[in-house]
Amino acid sequence: MTDAAAASHNFIRQIVLDERAANKHGGRVGTRFPPEPNGYLHLGHAKSICLNFGIAREFGGTCNLRFDDTNPAKEDIEYVESIKADVQWLGFDWTELRHASDYFEVFYRCAEKLIRDGKAFVCDLSADQVREYRGTLTEPGRNSPFRERSVEENLDLFGRMRAGEFADGAKTLRAKIDMASGNINLRDPALYRIRKVPHQNTGNAWCIYPMYDYAHCISDAVEGITHSLCTLEFEDHRPLYDWCLAQIDLPDHPELVQPLIDAGLKTNVSTPRQIEFARGNLDYTVMSKRKLMELVRDGLVAGWDDPRMPTLSGLRRRGFPPAAIRNFWERAGVTKQNSTIEFSVLEGCVREALDAAAPRRFAVLDPLKLVIANLPDDHAETLTFPNHPKNETFGTRSVAFSRELWIEREDFMETPVKGFHRLVPGGEVRLRGVGIVKCTDVEKDASGNVSAVHCTLDAETRHGMPGAERKVKGTIHWVSARHAIAAEVRLYDRLFNVVNPDDDSDGKTYRDHLNPDSMRIVRGWLEASLADAAPESAVQFERLGFFVADRRDHASGKPVFNRTVTLRDSWAQAAGK
Ligand code: ATP
Ligand code: MG
Repeated sequence: MTDAAAASHNFIRQIVLDERAANKHGGRVGTRFPPEPNGYLHLGHAKSICLNFGIAREFGGTCNLRFDDTNPAKEDIEYVESIKADVQWLGFDWTELRHASDYFEVFYRCAEKLIRDGKAFVCDLSADQVREYRGTLTEPGRNSPFRERSVEENLDLFGRMRAGEFADGAKTLRAKIDMASGNINLRDPALYRIRKVPHQNTGNAWCIYPMYDYAHCISDAVEGITHSLCTLEFEDHRPLYDWCLAQIDLPDHPELVQPLIDAGLKTNVSTPRQIEFARGNLDYTVMSKRKLMELVRDGLVAGWDDPRMPTLSGLRRRGFPPAAIRNFWERAGVTKQNSTIEFSVLEGCVREALDAAAPRRFAVLDPLKLVIANLPDDHAETLTFPNHPKNETFGTRSVAFSRELWIEREDFMETPVKGFHRLVPGGEVRLRGVGIVKCTDVEKDASGNVSAVHCTLDAETRHGMPGAERKVKGTIHWVSARHAIAAEVRLYDRLFNVVNPDDDSDGKTYRDHLNPDSMRIVRGWLEASLADAAPESAVQFERLGFFVADRRDHASGKPVFNRTVTLRDSWAQAAGK
């Protein structure tokens, strides 16, 4: 893609291009991805990851992974580890790994500076009172009765808040901005609150914790972030972001970042610019951490990495290649307009990536026995098949062929419907890579179900024979019954069966829209070469779809495959598209 074409559907790239041309930040680019470690990353986060790491990569800049761990009660080390693994799996590596908690001492010193400059005060109002004083969208708020405390008193009280002298909620530190501001975020917002909760990184060292808006801008500035990219709901917070940085003025106050230097952390103080973009949304999907957490907690899925989950670990286990996810967000573009992308667009990216990358194999998932009556009982042959129809570098493989085969039950119809071109009594079909067989007989079990079909193979239609090119309407795949290996195959489909499962306007919730057919487990037969498949390797089962060896449960001797995606979009067909 040319620069101009790429920038046309990513306005942030255009801003970076322009600022570099103007030599802002000396042409340097620094971004960060700042997850809160309170859940697993999902597809929406991948948009932000691709954007932040992608911009840094494109412009030779840096991108940090920063855990926004300012909310100790909800956070967990399990999430930290999963986030790191997911970012790397997606194909990115951070310049520095940081935690907002690395900066607790810096935040504290900055707060003292605000107090000394008369820009912050300790407030004793309760949470309810603060709400009362705040005013509304149409009415200004009122000043807190504690707003005019002296600098000395504020410094003393703030020190005692840190020392643990006051109970949770008894006091807050608030910015002194403007209780009449049209932007409610500027009505003396809280900067610190008391929470006597141990923190995963800092243990019991702190019992006051900074608020997001205050911590985020300072973290960006001390890391030398040039472009702080976030989603649209932070647009109204930008004036506060800028206010904090302007008041604290880190570039002119190097003493404030001394604790980092003492701790051996690199700093490169900048004045970052916050830029907001629209969240990525997908139809047939819920993408809030809270709802994903509930699905896991209530056992509606098998865990965060259930292959039906839109989490990155779920998509990974489902077999979605990271390149397909990157490509998807690249094509979606970055704008300020909220929109919902069709799930089928993502599946299209997955098919495209797997079509190029996945070797072809034979598998039969709903088996029906096919006996070739004119071959001897002990007939054994090895046929050679290309591993990829469009790419010779994939090489070839051997597939055993014998008298008894498995074929898909749906490739045979005793009483064919109109337009059915596969095997029927008395009819012919091509066995992929073998030749043409004719159905001569049908075996049934006690309840009248077809249990086997008998055929004769036309030797004249085999490879290299004069009739090899003879045309019949259908071609079907098969595996040798004697050689095939048994496998568990998990047929996954969309987790929700409505376009917008978040829509609760009709009184229903996302839980009412779970697709009962989102997982079906079958026992299938695979060609023997799949015995050695490595966990997480992708294959196309010819005519059936793309599959992946399950990264948790698959083992040689106990194959388990997940269906990643079908070969065609059956949802669009069902919807009449
Ligand atoms: P959720 O709303 O799902 O709980 P969050 O925004 O609270 O997500 P964070 O851990 O705070 O989750 O997000 C880390 C980064 O990912 C933030 O910069 C956030 O803006 C971004 N992000 C989260 N969801 C999306 C999304 N759907 N599209 C784009 N970026 C997102
Ligand atoms: Mg958040």
